[in-house]
Order: sequence, then C-alpha cells, then structure tokens
Amino acid sequence: MIRFENVTKRYRGTSKPALSGVDFEVQRGEFVFLVGASGSGKSSCLRLILREDVPTSGRVAVLGRDLRSLANRKVPYFRRHIGSVFQDFRLLPSKTVHQNVAFTLQVTGSSRGFIQQAVPEALALVGLDGKEKRMPHELSGGEQQRVAIARALVNRPQVLLADEPTGNLDPATSVDIMQLLARINAGGTTVLMATHEAGFVDQMQRRVIELRDGEMVRDEVHGGYGDTSNIPRLVPEEVRGAAAAAALTAVQEVQRQTADLSVVRAALAEELDAQRRAQTAAPAPQPAAEREPQRVEPPEQPHSGVVEPPEPDERTVEPPVERPAAAGPRTHPIVLPEVDVAELGVADRLGLSDQDDEEVGPTS
Ligand code: ADP
Ligand code: MG
Repeated sequence: MIRFENVTKRYRGTSKPALSGVDFEVQRGEFVFLVGASGSGKSSCLRLILREDVPTSGRVAVLGRDLRSLANRKVPYFRRHIGSVFQDFRLLPSKTVHQNVAFTLQVTGSSRGFIQQAVPEALALVGLDGKEKRMPHELSGGEQQRVAIARALVNRPQVLLADEPTGNLDPATSVDIMQLLARINAGGTTVLMATHEAGFVDQMQRRVIELRDGEMVRDEVHGGYGDTSNIPRLVPEEVRGAAAAAALTAVQEVQRQTADLSVVRAALAEELDAQRRAQTAAPAPQPAAEREPQRVEPPEQPHSGVVEPPEPDERTVEPPVERPAAAGPRTHPIVLPEVDVAELGVADRLGLSDQDDEEVGPTS
C-alpha cells in the first residue's frame, strides 16, 4: 500500500541527505509507528507519501501508484485517499467544529446532503457529537485534535498519516488520541504515525520503523521504542502565528483535494477577513489548560501538485496573529503562488475523472 524503494532525499543547500536508502513497505490495514529523534527524517517521509515532495533518488509507490509517474494535475485526487493530521491541529479558528470538518467537502463540491450526513458521522467517530457548534478556542487541545482527525477522515481515506499528533497534548490526552487512532485502524484504515515520543510506542506493540539521521535502523513488527536515552525532548516555544499557519494549512488541505483555485482563494480571503475581525474584537478566551505553549512549525511553502512553483506575480497576504495579547514574534507573510489553472483538466476540476481515480485503489 505504501512502498519506499531505496529512497534518498537531499534538500537543496544541505550537505547531509534527510533520508538515505530508505526501504520499507506498509501493507493495507497496518498500524505503523515511524519513530526517531527530531530531524531524523520522519516528516520528510510523510511529505513524500503525500507527494508534497519528490525523492532525489529511489521510488515511492502509494496505493498502487508510482508517484514519479503521477501527473501534477492528478495529485489532488490521489490525495483524497490520504488523510493527514499534524501536531498543531491546524483548525480554522473562526469556524465552528462542524464548519471545520465540512470545509473541504464544501469546496470540493460535495452535495449538501452528503455533507449533512458525513460530518456528523465523522464527529461521532471521534467522540465529539454535540460539539458541532463550538469554536476551536472553546475546545481542549485533545478535542481540537479530534476535530482535525474528523476532518482528515470525512472523505473516508484509505490511509491516515499523523505527524506527531500527540506532540502538543498532555500524556493522558495523548493516550486518548492514540486509542482513537487504534480504533480508526481497527476499522480498516491504514495508519502511519510519526512520533519522537517513546511511551505510546512501547504500549501499543505495533510495528515500528525507526529512522536515525535519515537512515532506517529498525523495522520491527511488534517493536517498542528501543533505547530512548538519546531522544531529546521538545522544548516548548512561544506560539507563532498559529492562526496563519492554520489558515494556510486548511487551504493547502483544500488544494490537495480540489483544483478549483478560485474557490480556494475566496475561502482563504473569507478566513483572513474573519481573523482580522476577530483580532480587532476582544481577545479570545484562552483554550483549556492542556494547551500549553506550543511549538508551531512555520508554514511551509505550498508544494503540491496543484500549486506550481511561485510565479513572478505572487500575492502576499499579511496574516493576522491569533492572540494579540501574546505579543510573540510575528510569523512570515503567507505567500500564495499564482497557479496555472489552464494546466488543470476541466474534468479533474469538476472531480469527474473517476476512471483515473479508481486506479488509485487497494493494492495489498
Ligand atoms: P523529523 O520530522 O524527523 O523531525 P524532518 O524530516 O523534518 O525530520 O527533517 C529531516 C532533516 O531534513 C533535518 O535535518 C531537517 O533540517 C532537514 N529538512 C527538512 N525539511 C527541509 C527543507 N525543506 N529544506 C532543507 N532541509 C530540510
Ligand atoms: Mg517532523
């Protein structure tokens, strides 16, 4: 279902490869931990699976597709089969729980009837029924991550990728999230979870693939974490532009699923507007106590098949900062590259290329 063949990834301007000679195969229905210290290459692996990036050498095949031969315009449809969640939740702060989960379905043109059915189902699956009208800031960190998981699952993907999903949660809440992921896996979804945290991995007794400095050093069917003495702990940092990161991620998420950039742009403009309005209003109440200061990765340049490399006339949007009181450092502006929509097939834009879509199917 996911296969890495001798994969090496070298980022421009770096001397050491982020991944070198990585080889593994994940079967349909497996639950796999991808472990290793910060910087060992876990997120790089997940980005290759999502085709957000391509290997320098070697081959990545996902859902029966060699990603080298996957045309850029087909990438959004390929990604509909893959859900992803992240350490920093990446919810839209000015949208309700229901709206956050419904958002991608709306912009990909799902019918109202389907949305009305699928969103409550996804929320029930993650144990959030009755909270559809809440705003993200009215939820605990664990509940926010559940919303993000519901959003990732609402399209019923075959694979769920989770990049440090418990990294911002306290231990008890982390266990809840792990149990939820295990339940999702028991329902048939293949789960690949990157983590640098030792505890859960030992408890779960699932397959463990370990990376060290970009090299695969272990692949155990029922592994624990192994020697944890060298694994550094994350030092909490100030929240930086969390709202901007969330907005950008939501848009990237949508871009993964749709080629209709005008809808995406309109949605982003609306979201930024709402954030600006929220910024001028009274500061939002602080989230529940478990939401300690978090480390939020700066938003990365969109690098999907939909978004071509930035054109000269790229548009810059200054993101609002989520918490005016925090007075933390401002994040970098979001740069929205222009997209050559003409390159995208009409059938693709309308989601009508079912024939191709079916090629992305179960393989193992
Ligand atoms: P992990 O998720 O395990 O912390 P990453 O995959 O993020 O590891 O990073 C692996 C290595 O690649 C690190 O040395 C990191 O600095 C480097 N790296 C990751 N992304 C980039 C990038 N876009 N450009 C240059 N170097 C990168
Ligand atoms: Mg990472």
